Amino acid sequence: MAPLLRHLRAAVAAVADGAPSDPVNRLLAAYPPRLHVSTHEGAGLAHLHYARDGEPGVSWLGRSCGAALAHIGCGVPEVTIGRCQAAGCARFFVDQSRNRSRRFCGNKCASRTTVAAYRARSR
Ligand SMILES: [Zn+2]
Ligand SMILES: [Zn+2]
Repeated sequence: MAPLLRHLRAAVAAVADGAPSDPVNRLLAAYPPRLHVSTHEGAGLAHLHYARDGEPGVSWLGRSCGAALAHIGCGVPEVTIGRCQAAGCARFFVDQSRNRSRRFCGNKCASRTTVAAYRARSR
């Protein structure tokens, strides 16, 4: 799991920061999507699979996340990944706000930052 997490973290950070996509390409090289269309043998609608049936969970995860991050990094679908601006928080989030201006991973980090700013001002 550790190598995947290392690749994944770097790739998510590159997409969130709009940085060069080398980490995304490294994730894709380590876990190349094995793209194919599946209908589950006619049982469902045609949709994309990024890994073959029976692959270990970690490779399935790596292939699927690599493909998703590559799509997002190229702007299709139009999804914005943000990085939490709170001090000491290492989280990323999907920004679904109307003007894509979200700065924090959640309310906790937002109010923690507001309180810290207020204290710094009133000091
Ligand atoms: Zn499926
Ligand atoms: Zn946060």
